[in-house]
Amino acid sequence: MSKIYNYLHSFFYRSKDAVRGSGIYSLLRRIKSEQRLPLNELRELQNERLRELLKRAGEHSPYYRDLFKSANIIINDRFGIENLRELPLLSREKLQNNYKSIICDNAGQVFSNSSGGSTGAPVNFYHDENYRRFAETASLLFLDWMGINSGDRTAVVWGADRDFKDLSRRDRFFIRFDRVKALNAFSMSDEKIGRFISDINRFRPLYVYGYASALYLVARQINMSEPLKFKPKAVRSAAEMLYDFQRREIEKAFGSAVYNFYGSREINNLAAECSAHSGLHIVSSGRIVEIVDEAGNPVPDGESGQIAVTDLTNLSFPFIRYLNGDMGVMSTKPCSCGRTFPLIEKIQGRTSDVIIVDGRYIHGEYFTHLFYHKPEIVRFQLIQEEAKKLKLLIVSKEKDPDLNEVISAIRSKVGDGVAIEIEFTDHIPVTASGKFRFTVSRLDQSSKEKV
Ligand SMILES: [Zn+2]
Repeated sequence: MSKIYNYLHSFFYRSKDAVRGSGIYSLLRRIKSEQRLPLNELRELQNERLRELLKRAGEHSPYYRDLFKSANIIINDRFGIENLRELPLLSREKLQNNYKSIICDNAGQVFSNSSGGSTGAPVNFYHDENYRRFAETASLLFLDWMGINSGDRTAVVWGADRDFKDLSRRDRFFIRFDRVKALNAFSMSDEKIGRFISDINRFRPLYVYGYASALYLVARQINMSEPLKFKPKAVRSAAEMLYDFQRREIEKAFGSAVYNFYGSREINNLAAECSAHSGLHIVSSGRIVEIVDEAGNPVPDGESGQIAVTDLTNLSFPFIRYLNGDMGVMSTKPCSCGRTFPLIEKIQGRTSDVIIVDGRYIHGEYFTHLFYHKPEIVRFQLIQEEAKKLKLLIVSKEKDPDLNEVISAIRSKVGDGVAIEIEFTDHIPVTASGKFRFTVSRLDQSSKEKV
């Protein structure tokens, strides 16, 4: 029965793809054939795509045109990945100051987007149709790596700004058709998590995914009560750093492997684990990842450095050697699965604490969403100093930024009984490991009794 459903589900999406001419399934076949190419052939493909991106950037993006001219960079037919180091890095600050001139003058339809990012500093940027198609295809590729079939029952712990009942009829239809049960990570409590666990015990999902810290909360509650009545094929953790203690707790609760996943709002679907779990394969068909030092020189595999990403797919808004704010380590070994897409061994990415008010868990991402499209805010950090006291640190370009919307959104989530103090500052320190945390809880998160 389930196989028939999988077939029908896949048939529906393939037909939709064919009718719309979006080309997702043909691209998926192409990436699947590229993932096991000999390394020299893969590199040649990437070099071709890189030259196309760079030539376009040099001709049509005012920002890169000036940059290439002043650095005397000429993109000829021998230019390849090994020459990337000759190009300057694109920091988040440079992106934020220049995004209007990065966009190509011959761009077709583009979609505006913005991100709070892992450093707590918001940036604005654009995606084109080609980027979207690739990102969507890569997400299907990752399902294939995890052994998940089209239409497999899915449970999600994710941030949702609207409840199921507030969705349009069409969206509700697709949630049912895709067989998805969701728990809103922006509004969790022990009671809601308990209900979600009973729901999924009846629903028996084959695939579970969510924010690492939210999945961890669900897993901890499962491990403190009865074992689950089902075992999914895969659990996927995304959007933030997955710590080893979280992975262990989640694997124990669900009895299946956790697949780590890496991407950001600027360049999503960047890398993911395969069933060998020896690192995250970069989707090399569309992305180049370098690990670099402060000066932009590549560091040897096995050593830690800044992650610089070149997106080969977003041709209307070139991200070239973009420092997304995360640190990482490239693996020195090939993967036992036989795929030749390179492995990132470790990512030291964004971290956030869950804010807990009156027994309700509010995922840190809720707060980062409030700062999207607020370019005047350079950086922010929300600190829960006591159970009933929040402090919002702000680094702002403007002297007196309008924070009314942000404050009322925080107020609506935490209620009237919590004091919210705002402090303007010039600098917000990073953690000992060099990572920025945009939400910090001074409460002991491992023992809820103290809250
Ligand atoms: Zn592998």
